[in-house]
Amino acid sequence: MSIERAEIVIVGGGAVGCGAAYSLAEAGKTDILLLEKEPSVAAATSSQAAGLVGQVRNTTERVQLAMWSVETFSRLQENEKSNPGWRQVGSLRVALNDERVEEFRHMKDVCDEAGLETEFVDNSRAKELWPLMDFSHSKAVLWCPSDGYLQPYDLTMSYVEHARELGVRFQTDTRVTGIRTENGCVRAVETDRGDIECEMVINAAGAHACQLAASVGIELPIIPVRHEFFVTVECEGMAPTLPVMRIPDATLYLRGEVNSLLCGGWEPRSLSNDPRKISLADEQPLIEEDYDVLGQFAEELSPHIPKVSELGVRSVFKGWPTFTPDGRFIIGESSKVKGFVMAGGCNAHGVSGSAGIGRHLVESLLDPSPSPYVRSLSPDRFEDGWDWDEAAREARRCYETYYALGH
Ligand SMILES: Cc1cc2nc3c(=O)[nH]c(=O)nc-3n(C[C@H](O)[C@H](O)[C@H](O)COP(=O)(O)OP(=O)(O)OC[C@H]3O[C@@H](n4cnc5c(N)ncnc54)[C@H](O)[C@@H]3O)c2cc1C
Repeated sequence: MSIERAEIVIVGGGAVGCGAAYSLAEAGKTDILLLEKEPSVAAATSSQAAGLVGQVRNTTERVQLAMWSVETFSRLQENEKSNPGWRQVGSLRVALNDERVEEFRHMKDVCDEAGLETEFVDNSRAKELWPLMDFSHSKAVLWCPSDGYLQPYDLTMSYVEHARELGVRFQTDTRVTGIRTENGCVRAVETDRGDIECEMVINAAGAHACQLAASVGIELPIIPVRHEFFVTVECEGMAPTLPVMRIPDATLYLRGEVNSLLCGGWEPRSLSNDPRKISLADEQPLIEEDYDVLGQFAEELSPHIPKVSELGVRSVFKGWPTFTPDGRFIIGESSKVKGFVMAGGCNAHGVSGSAGIGRHLVESLLDPSPSPYVRSLSPDRFEDGWDWDEAAREARRCYETYYALGH
């Protein structure tokens, strides 16, 4: 049976949409209906994510946002029946050159200021934490004990369970086909199962967010950029309890996936799709495994884990996370269409960032004076002064330089 009215309709049942539903419900907004076109939530990008949750960042705001996510995941983990599979295994960040060591020092200062515990560890301590890794090339290793990883599908389900208990409704198999506005205000969403009247629409449609915004006449540079990682066959020495590892100079991230190695990276020549060529009714283009790129990741890794070249690949995860030209989330209500709210532009950290995005969304919608930082994430920043080619180039650059110095 379809529902015909809700105060707030959220479009998209990925980690971001479900996290938004959970955060708003916790803040007292419960007349919410979330619509997902697929038969289940987390069916698109979220289910493909590696689930890394890293708090060590370059600015205090971003560290604090990530700390909020960790706090939320730890809270959700306490629920025995529905938890995100949060494993607080810590993380190691390895520097291979002096510039990177400088960057780590800066990051450590930022973390100190934000109240996040980090520490430089020597190579022998790092080796104890990750025995399979050869640290002889490393110039410094930064350890963050409260980092970790989770299972993205479980996180999304955990949000759903908690939000549902607070009264949020979820409807899958329902595709939003348009948004009806009157006098510049949202009045209803149109779906393939009928219209739903509402006062507010939250656009958490992931790689389709650009098309949904365009349906109310708002152009936003939300560019899907391909990303992929591989999981090897079982490998002696790998375990789910190993810390998450980042080697930014080799543009790589690693973690244990049960007893296998998960390895992903940021390729120097990325691939984006043009949102103007896809309609709201279309699916995102299918992605074939790109073994040239995945092979490069393995090659980059082999000086540090020589054994990687002998390991077969068991599975490849891939998808179209979205990037923005300035590398920042797009969160909040548009001043152009009242009631049209964005929650997206995740720049490949929408799973770990989902709790923080939810928190910023609550602040932007319910707080009478949101912080300048939260206001700076508004979709209004893209009202004019950009063009598609340049925006796509910049979005790809954000992807390609994800682990670059100063990023
Ligand atoms: C290989 C890979 C590894 C990654 N690793 C990490 C990681 O370690 N950590 C991290 O934080 N992030 C990671 N990411 C990024 C992360 O997956 C994304 O940032 C995040 O999933 C975005 O969530 P979302 O809810 O915005 O999008 P999605 O999960 O794509 O959800 C959007 C939903 O909207 C639905 N939808 C679209 N249009 C409509 C419509 N018209 N009507 C109804 N429903 C609609 C879609 O079906 C979809 O379910 C990774 C991504 C990939 C591809």
